[in-house]
Amino acid sequence: MRLLFFILTAGTVLFNSFFMLPSDMHAASSVPNDAYKLKTRMSLYQFVETATQLPWYLIAAIDQYEHSRRNARRDLPDSTGPVGIYMTREEWAGLLNPDKNDSNPASIQFWGGMGTDGNGDGRASMTTNEDLLFSIAHYLMNYGHDEGNIRIGLWHYYRRDKAVGIIMGNARLFKKFKTLDLNKKVFPVPVRTHYTYRGTWGVARGWGGRRTHEGTDIFADYGLPVRSTCYGIVEMKGWNKYGGWRIGIRDINNTYHYFAHLSGFAKGLKTGQAVSPGTYIGGVGSTGYGPPGTSGKFPPHLHYGLYKDNGLTEWSFDPYPLLRVWERNDLNARIKRK
Ligand SMILES: [Zn+2]
Repeated sequence: MRLLFFILTAGTVLFNSFFMLPSDMHAASSVPNDAYKLKTRMSLYQFVETATQLPWYLIAAIDQYEHSRRNARRDLPDSTGPVGIYMTREEWAGLLNPDKNDSNPASIQFWGGMGTDGNGDGRASMTTNEDLLFSIAHYLMNYGHDEGNIRIGLWHYYRRDKAVGIIMGNARLFKKFKTLDLNKKVFPVPVRTHYTYRGTWGVARGWGGRRTHEGTDIFADYGLPVRSTCYGIVEMKGWNKYGGWRIGIRDINNTYHYFAHLSGFAKGLKTGQAVSPGTYIGGVGSTGYGPPGTSGKFPPHLHYGLYKDNGLTEWSFDPYPLLRVWERNDLNARIKRK
């Protein structure tokens, strides 16, 4: 039944991706992150852990992905409550269920729907936080509790390798830092050093054919330390003919932070590693525009780019306004420490 559902929805998804404008760059901020909401979310995830033995950080990772995905897409309603899980009525009740508003757990199960009663009131309600989380948890438990089977379950649910990778990355971050509060950001180089930058996102650039500039260039001395801007997973590390030695870090809001033209990498830094804001990742350099090792074709600078993923596609947005905010925050933090 799930496969049939997939075939029917594939057309809609394709349609939406064509008519979606990559504009919601502020989407990440609408994930409920204030202290009160984080506390509510954490207690819900722990409640599910107790009942299902699935770890809270896995449930949190899926829910985090759903929050981010919804808030970055125009064809899905924004998440306003603590739980971000989104399903259509057909997914919830079962595609062939004649009652699309069915909330009876037994008949939903009969029709192969996802809906589950999580809070024990005898109803499977799409607007109840516990019921939403339990429906995902029960779905995954059909596959098993170990990571390999969880990955398979997630793939069958999302039909996208990237979704599985992002969710497992979220889970690793939540597990390692033992908190949902992973939104802190810092400026990519230490403040109060010699550097200059201005907003040049979207302007044409010379090398490599017709390309526009997908980032902000921070000009600085060769070797100035480059730090992770966020809590995230090192998703990419190595050579790229445009970016030279470059690193990509994915944060918990599905945003990809891209650092290019590095002089080299921090010792021991590995792909898959969880980093925090300020983790040393490499040095400012001038590598790129040629085969591996090419350097010195332009003045040393850090190229910093941001890319947003919405569950279907990924696009570049201008990091400049955020860099200004993070730089100011870092300067203020320095003043406070004195
Ligand atoms: Zn650049």
